Amino acid sequence: MRARHGGTRARVAVRSGGHSWCGSPLRDGGMLIDVSGLRACTVDPASLTATVQPGVTGAQLTARLGGHGLAFPAGHCGSVAVGGYLLSGGLGWNSGARGPACAGVERIEAVTADGEPVTCSESEHADLFWAARGAGPGFFAAVTAFRLKPYPRPRAITCTRWTFPLTDVTEATQWATGLAPRLSPDVELSFALGTAAPGAGPASTVVTVTGVAFARSRREADEFLRPLHRCPLEGRALSRLRDEPMTYESLYAASAALWPPRLRYAADTLWSDAGFPALLGRLARAVDAAPSRRSLVLAPVSPVGRPAQDMAFAPLGESYVVPYAVWDDPGQDAATMGWLREAMHRVEPLGTGHYIAETDLTAAASRARRSFTPGAWQRLRALRTRYDPEGLFRSYLSPDDGTP
Ligand SMILES: Cc1cc2nc3c(=O)[nH]c(=O)nc-3n(C[C@H](O)[C@H](O)[C@H](O)COP(=O)(O)OP(=O)(O)OC[C@H]3O[C@@H](n4cnc5c(N)ncnc54)[C@H](O)[C@@H]3O)c2cc1C
Repeated sequence: MRARHGGTRARVAVRSGGHSWCGSPLRDGGMLIDVSGLRACTVDPASLTATVQPGVTGAQLTARLGGHGLAFPAGHCGSVAVGGYLLSGGLGWNSGARGPACAGVERIEAVTADGEPVTCSESEHADLFWAARGAGPGFFAAVTAFRLKPYPRPRAITCTRWTFPLTDVTEATQWATGLAPRLSPDVELSFALGTAAPGAGPASTVVTVTGVAFARSRREADEFLRPLHRCPLEGRALSRLRDEPMTYESLYAASAALWPPRLRYAADTLWSDAGFPALLGRLARAVDAAPSRRSLVLAPVSPVGRPAQDMAFAPLGESYVVPYAVWDDPGQDAATMGWLREAMHRVEPLGTGHYIAETDLTAAASRARRSFTPGAWQRLRALRTRYDPEGLFRSYLSPDDGTP
């Protein structure tokens, strides 16, 4: 791969769907390789595999697999392309049971810095394959296709949700985390802190506890959610939803409502070994003080099972939280970004790391390094030197454009 710009060799950024919260493919100078037009997605029912190009969105992949009775832990928002998502690890629908999405990647096709097309798997270019499953926005080759191993599609998806005033955050999270070990791994349990939906009652800020069950039948789904049916705080609930039938399409519609187009967004992440009552107690105070009422905090309780494979991605703590700054007025940029940093400062002393897909790489040079185990970070540095010795591919976006 030779990119020349004004007589000098230009550095390259790659973009699949452009959904990076911090805009990592957007760099001054150099050259952008936009692969969003690579949108082929084929399913081979005989081998139970799917081959997907990086511009395909999670919703498109889910729909295509659904036609064959299959599913994959695609991202929670249907519009996110698989390219950057799979390279980062991928915490998607039912990842608690199915593992990070990158664990379901069997093979990738890529083009290296010297222009060589390579196939990477456990047996070919195994070290590049290791890096491609987690390096995210610091990966040092351009991926043109992924071969995935889907699983049988759940026949029933149901949702149970409780909504409480935000002042009940500690008790609500204590209750739900206490019963989490009794839930099937096929229940995706999560907390959300934010502004009440219109009509939710007098509280302006709320905490929701949501369980989504992925099951083989409606009966099994309802059984999975049974531990969530009763709650010691139910007298204080502002609203509740019980065993509501869902589809992947309705899950995507709910996510799309959280992230409407044309707003302004920033996100940051934290893994921690502290419990959710401590983490969300601190973040609740931030949500109450948010300059934009659209900002929120999401916290999946067990976002991902511990992957069996050795990959660059690894969960770095027992708990995981993601504050999102969401606003519409450019005049609020400084205040809202300041809010996001302040929210993170409240919980960072409890942190054990970040998640490379959604962390704010512009917040501190250490964000990228702290998104990996020390061993994985050292290995990424060594592999980058080997596969891209001249640093053709842009590395992690950070205040000093840090290279691993
Ligand atoms: C609304 C929304 C919801 C999200 N939900 C989830 C979620 O549920 N779970 C989750 O894990 N993440 C989630 N994310 C984060 C998302 O996974 C990352 O932002 C991911 O990078 C998006 O993929 P993309 O292809 O759009 O990335 P892009 O913005 O196109 O690229 C990001 C970086 O990835 C690298 N890259 C992208 N494509 C290639 C390629 N083909 N070859 C080599 N390098 C490449 C580049 O370094 C690039 O700078 C969400 C993001 C948004 C905006």
